[in-house]
Amino acid sequence: MKKYKELNPSLRTIMTPGPVEVDPRVLRAMSFPILGQFDPEFTTLMNETMEMVRDVFQTNNQWSYPVDGTSRSGLEAVLVSIIQPGDKVLVPIYGRFGHLLVEISERCGADVVFIETEWGGVFDPDLVIDAIHKHKPDIVAMVHGETSTGQMQPLSAIGKACRELDILLVVDAVATIGGVPVETDAWMLDAVMGGTQKCISVPSGMAPITYNHRIEEKLLSRKRVERGLRDPERIDLAYDVNMIRSNYLDLSQIQDYWSAARLNHHTEATSMLYGLHEGLRILLEEGLEARFARHELNGKALVQGIKGMGLELFGNEDSKLPCVTCIAIPAGIDGEVVRSKLLHQFGIEIASSFGPLKGRIWRIGTMGFSCNQKNVLHTLGALEAVLIREGHALPAGEAVQAALDVYSLTSREEISC
Ligand SMILES: *Cc1c(COP(=O)(O)O)cnc(C)c1O
Repeated sequence: MKKYKELNPSLRTIMTPGPVEVDPRVLRAMSFPILGQFDPEFTTLMNETMEMVRDVFQTNNQWSYPVDGTSRSGLEAVLVSIIQPGDKVLVPIYGRFGHLLVEISERCGADVVFIETEWGGVFDPDLVIDAIHKHKPDIVAMVHGETSTGQMQPLSAIGKACRELDILLVVDAVATIGGVPVETDAWMLDAVMGGTQKCISVPSGMAPITYNHRIEEKLLSRKRVERGLRDPERIDLAYDVNMIRSNYLDLSQIQDYWSAARLNHHTEATSMLYGLHEGLRILLEEGLEARFARHELNGKALVQGIKGMGLELFGNEDSKLPCVTCIAIPAGIDGEVVRSKLLHQFGIEIASSFGPLKGRIWRIGTMGFSCNQKNVLHTLGALEAVLIREGHALPAGEAVQAALDVYSLTSREEISC
C-alpha cells in the first residue's frame, strides 16, 4: 500500500495578494471541536459574526454574513441572486477581476455592456457616470481594489449617481476589505462582496458579504423556498420563471438560514466560521483606523524600498491600491526565475500577474497578518540579493535603508513587527 508522509507544510513568508499568512490565534480557533449548526452556542457565534461583518463593512445593513466558498462565491451569489435573464449589467473594467464580473454576469443571462480602461489606471468617475446615463443599466458591477494591477477605484460619486437613477451598484471589495476603508453606507453601495484570505487574514473558504433593502427587495421578488422545505400546497412556487438559478448560492434562502428562523439550507462550515469569527475579533481589536494605517505604512515603506533599489513601479501611483505593489520586471530579468529563487532560497512568495501583464510585472501584497515591518524588510533585502545574483546592477543596500527611513519617521508605537 502506498504510504503518505505526515503533513508538514513549510513556514513561508507570504507576500502575495492572497492567500496571506494567518494569525496563529485564527489557526487555533479552527482546530476547536465541532458544534452542531443549530446549537445555541454555534448560532450565537453566527450572530456575533454578522455583527462584526457589519462593523468591517461600515454598514447598518441587517444582511451582513459570510457565504461558504472562496471570495468568488460571494460575487456569484450576489450576481446570480439579483440578475434576471435579460437584465442589463454595466461593468467598468480596469483589470482581470472586472472581466470576472462580466463572465459571471453573462452566465447569469445578463445583457452585459462593459467599458474598459487601460490596465494600470482607474476610471475618472465621470466617465463611468456618463456610461451609466448612456446605457441605462439595471445593475452596475465594479471592482474596488484590482489585485491584478494594484489599482483602486474611487466609488462614492458612482454610488451617488446610481442611487439617484435607482440603479443597483454591486462592488467586489475582496482585496480591500479589512485593509483599506470600504464605506458601504456612506458611498451608497447596494451590495459589497469581500473575501477572507486577503486583508482579513483568515484562510480562504468564506466570502463575507453585505447588502441593503434594495437588494433584498429584488431577492424576495424571486424567492422560492426549495422542495422538501416548502408547503407542498404552494404550487405557485413550483414553476416560477423568475426563480434564482442557483440553489447553493440563492441569497433569499441563505438569508433565512442566517435569520432567527434558521430555515435549513446548507450545513454551515463550522471550522471556517470559527476562523472568521476569531479573525474579525482580532481585526476589530486592532481597530479599523489602526489597521488601515498599518496597511498604508507598510505599503509606503515597500514602495520607497522598491524605488530605492532603482526599480520602477507599474501603474498610476495616484490611484495605487495601498496593499498591493506592482513592479515592472527590469529588462533582461526573467521574473519567474526571481520568484523561484525568492521562494526556494528565502522562503518568500511574491506573485506574478495575469493576461496582458503576465511576465511584465511582479505583485507584492502587504495584507493582513503578512503586512508588517519584518516581512517588508526581509522581502526588500531578499529581492535585492536575488537581483544582484541575476546580474542586475543596482545600488546595493539602498532599498532597506529607504524603507527604514519610512519606518523611522513613524513613532515606535505605530509600528507592529
Ligand atoms: C482574490 C480576488 C478574487 C477571487 O477570490 P477567490 O477567493 O480566489 O475566489 C476576486 N476579486 C478580487 C478583486 C480579488 O482580489
